[in-house]
Amino acid sequence: MQFVNPVQKWLNKDVAAITPYEPGRPIEEVAREMGMAPDCINKLASNENPLGPSPRALQAMEAHLADMYLYPDGGAYSLRTKLAGQYDVAKKQVVLGNGSNEILEFIGHCFFGKGRSIVVSAHAFVIYKLVARMFNTAVREIPTRSLQHDLDAMADAVDETTCAVFVCNPNNPTGTLAGPDEVEAFVERIPDETLIVFDEAYAEIALGTMPDTLALIKTRPNCIMLRTFSKAYGLAGLRIGYGIGPEPIIESLQKARQPFNVNRMAQEAALAALDDRDFIERSRSHFAASKEYLQSECRKAGLEYVPTYANFLLVKAGDSAGVTRQLTEKGVIVRPMAGYGLSQYIRVSFGRTEENERFIRELQHVMAG
Ligand SMILES: *Cc1c(COP(=O)(O)O)cnc(C)c1O
Repeated sequence: MQFVNPVQKWLNKDVAAITPYEPGRPIEEVAREMGMAPDCINKLASNENPLGPSPRALQAMEAHLADMYLYPDGGAYSLRTKLAGQYDVAKKQVVLGNGSNEILEFIGHCFFGKGRSIVVSAHAFVIYKLVARMFNTAVREIPTRSLQHDLDAMADAVDETTCAVFVCNPNNPTGTLAGPDEVEAFVERIPDETLIVFDEAYAEIALGTMPDTLALIKTRPNCIMLRTFSKAYGLAGLRIGYGIGPEPIIESLQKARQPFNVNRMAQEAALAALDDRDFIERSRSHFAASKEYLQSECRKAGLEYVPTYANFLLVKAGDSAGVTRQLTEKGVIVRPMAGYGLSQYIRVSFGRTEENERFIRELQHVMAG
């Protein structure tokens, strides 16, 4: 029985107009579709950490399994205190999200609305645009210069309607990095009334010099930074991220948050992961080696790529959708980039060494065929 939707007339138009985000395809889904065993498939599509979860986090999760009948601490006292200590800020300057993506939504709830605008770079993380649409907020998407954020042009685009400007750094999906001087000059040009959001999902493993965002947060009233446990710490499946910023802004974001948005397992794992400096170092050097390998193989194969500062590489492979499909048929999942306005590119996440090698082999077959 098919019903017409009797509640359609209530459906919020801004929500109805949204095209859902397309994540990297899950291994299980591709396995079902291709009739392959899941362990024959390599997922290099969501910038996860191929070394797995931080071992300390794993140990903490195992140790706390039996506590899962209890609600989490909604105020996340221990984790927020620990993060505050690590960054030398007050606990009230820390907000947690169910992934840092959820904090992007808090920002929407708090600051977006009709008649307002946000400024983003072209080819940047699409969630900013998605949240803006949800809140009927205009998006000013500023063209890049050689696929780098054009921070000058972004500052030019800010006006009295601009509630927030987003700097994704290193940027997903291009892997480019905006350096300290450039970012400091940019911040000088943004009025205090516009929120500056530094989305630094890859900061812990960034393969270059990050700007000192923390110093900006401490000296400016309108800067916040977002971090996540999904990437460097290898905890993408748990959904936990955080924001650091001035107290009044964080206090507003807290109001948009559901009481138990970050689950107990995630809080325990994150607490332990923060002490796992060794794991971060190992991950970083693996990513540095992966970058060397993949970039050099692309050069040998005559494939253009964008030099990366994160754990993924944007490769110019021609027909992005077609190449992605052919790689998927061979059991290697990458991400097509047409949705990011980069129809000639695929994005490949760094895998384990043998996964990187397999990707190169399969890509060469596809390009030769
Ligand atoms: C992965 C990623 C995030 C973090 O997502 P979570 O919700 O924390 O898993 C945020 N921003 C960018 C640019 C990312 O690539």
